[in-house]
Amino acid sequence: MCCPRPACGPLGVPVGLTSEAVESHEPKFLKAVEMFFDRAAKYCDASPEVLKHIKSTDSVLSVTFPMEKDGKTLMIRGYRSQHSRHRLPCKGGIRYSSAVDLQEVEALSALMTYKCAVVDVPFGGGKGGIMIDPKEWTEAELERITRRFTLELCQKNFIGPGVDVPAPDVGTGPREMGWIADTYRNFNPQDVNGAACVTGKALSLGGVRGRTEATGLGVYYGVREFLAFPEVRKQINHHGKVEGSTVIVQGFGNVGYWASKFFEANGALITGVVEHDAAVYNEAGLNVEQLAQWRKEHGTFRGFPDAKVIDEPMRLLEAECDVLIPAALERQIGLRNAHKIKAKLIGEAANGPMTPGADEVLRANGKVIVPDLLLNAGGVCVSYFEWAKNLSHLRFGRMTKRWDERSKEQLLVLVEGNAGRPLSEVERRQLIHGAEEHELVYSGLEDTMIVACSETHQTAIAKGIDYRTAALANSINKIAASLSGSGSIFTHA
Ligand code: NAD
Repeated sequence: MCCPRPACGPLGVPVGLTSEAVESHEPKFLKAVEMFFDRAAKYCDASPEVLKHIKSTDSVLSVTFPMEKDGKTLMIRGYRSQHSRHRLPCKGGIRYSSAVDLQEVEALSALMTYKCAVVDVPFGGGKGGIMIDPKEWTEAELERITRRFTLELCQKNFIGPGVDVPAPDVGTGPREMGWIADTYRNFNPQDVNGAACVTGKALSLGGVRGRTEATGLGVYYGVREFLAFPEVRKQINHHGKVEGSTVIVQGFGNVGYWASKFFEANGALITGVVEHDAAVYNEAGLNVEQLAQWRKEHGTFRGFPDAKVIDEPMRLLEAECDVLIPAALERQIGLRNAHKIKAKLIGEAANGPMTPGADEVLRANGKVIVPDLLLNAGGVCVSYFEWAKNLSHLRFGRMTKRWDERSKEQLLVLVEGNAGRPLSEVERRQLIHGAEEHELVYSGLEDTMIVACSETHQTAIAKGIDYRTAALANSINKIAASLSGSGSIFTHA
C-alpha cells in the first residue's frame, strides 16, 4: 500500500511517523486518550456537563521562533498545553522530538491530569514539546532553543511555581531543566520561590534526591504490587513475585534504564531490551549496567557480547516473557502486533504505548495491562516532592534526622536492658539510622504507588472492569469532586 509522505521537521526529519505496529485507521494519540476517557466515564458519578469539562483542554500555547543553523534560518515550533487547571500549578514534562505535534502534546497533558489525580498529586495536567530532534543540534544551540522557548512561556504566563511547572520528558533532562530555571529567574528576579518553576533539576540547582530514577522505580513498585494481587496471579498463571520473573523492556532511556535496574536488583531477569535501531536478547538475563555502558560507548547495542542481537527490534516485543515494559514512546503496540504479544503482564511505563484496539485484543487474550496513568506516575509524584522542597526551602529530613536518631538511641537502651545483651555496633547503627532525603523520597513514592495500585485494583474488582478503566474512573471521580462546589462550572442559568 502506498503511504503519503510524512511532513518534515526543520531539518528535514519526518515527523508524525506512524509506528509500524499501528494500522492507518487506528485513532491518533489524542483520540485514543479520549476513547479511554469515554469508556471510564460510564462508571463515574459525575454529570455530563462535568465530564465534558474534565475531558476538554483548558488552554494551548503554540509558538514559532527562528533559529540559525549552518547559515540557514529555521523556524522552530513549540507547544504548551494546560489540560486542566482544577488544581494549580499545571504539571507535565517538556519533550524534544521531531514527532511532536499539537495533538500529541494535548494528549499527554490530558494524561497528566488523570495521572496526578490517580496518585493524589494536587496539580492540574500540562505538557510541552518542541518539534526538534535533539541529536541534530549542538549543546549551545539546544540551550538557545530552550531559553527562547522559556522566554515565550514567561511572556505568555505559561510558567511559574503557581502557574505551570515543566519537567523532563523524552529528549530532555536535568540540563534543560536548569536552563529553564535560570531563564525564569532572570525574568522574575524577585520570586523567592523561582526554583519551583520547573522540576527534574540537578541537585545543585534545587533538585531532589531520587527524581532521576523516580519513574523507573515507580514502574517497579507498580508491577510488584500487581503481580502480587491474587486475581492477577490466577489470571496470568504466575507465582506473584518479581523475583524470578522474566522482563523485556522497550526503550533504554531514563525510564527504561532505571526500571531495568530496579527489576534486576530485585531478582528479575531482564531477558530483552529493545531500542529503535536494534534489540538484545539473552534468556539467562542481560547485565543492565554492562549493557548501558556498551550503548554509551558504541551508541548502539550492536556487538554487545553474551546476547543475541536482533535487527528487527520490534519483533522482540513479541517474545515469551512474564512482563513486557514499553518505555519508549506512544503507539508501539497496535492492531498489527497486539495479537502476537506473548507477555503475561504489560506494564505501560511510556505514555500511550498501546492503541485502544490493541488494548482490546490484549485483554481478550487474557493479558493484564497496568496502565500508564498509574504505572509511570512515579515521575510526577517525586516532582511534587521537589516542588514542595523548593517552596519550603528545606531539604527533606534536615530538621528530623538527628532528633529521630537520638530518640531511637534512648529506646535502644531500654531494649538492651530487657534483652540482657548489648547490641553490636552494626546493629546499633542500622536501628538508629535517621532517614536521608533519598530514603524519604523512596518511601513517599512507594507508599503512593501502593495506595494508588490498591485503589485501582479495588475499583476494578468492585465494578468488574479492567485496570485502565478503573484507574481513569477513580481519577475522574476525584477531579469531579474537586470541581463540584468550586463555582468553576456554570451549569445553571
Ligand atoms: P528518553 O528520551 O530518556 O528515552 C526514550 C528511549 O526510547 C531512548 O533511548 C530512545 O532511543 C528509545 N526509543 C525511541 N523510539 C524507540 C522505538 N521505536 N523503539 C525502541 N526504543 C525507542 O525518554 P524517557 O524520559 O525515558 O521517556 C520514555 C517514556 O516514558 C515516554 O513515553 C515518556 O512520556 C514517559 N514518561 C517519562 C517520565 C520521566 O520522568 N522521564 C515520566 C513519565 C512518563
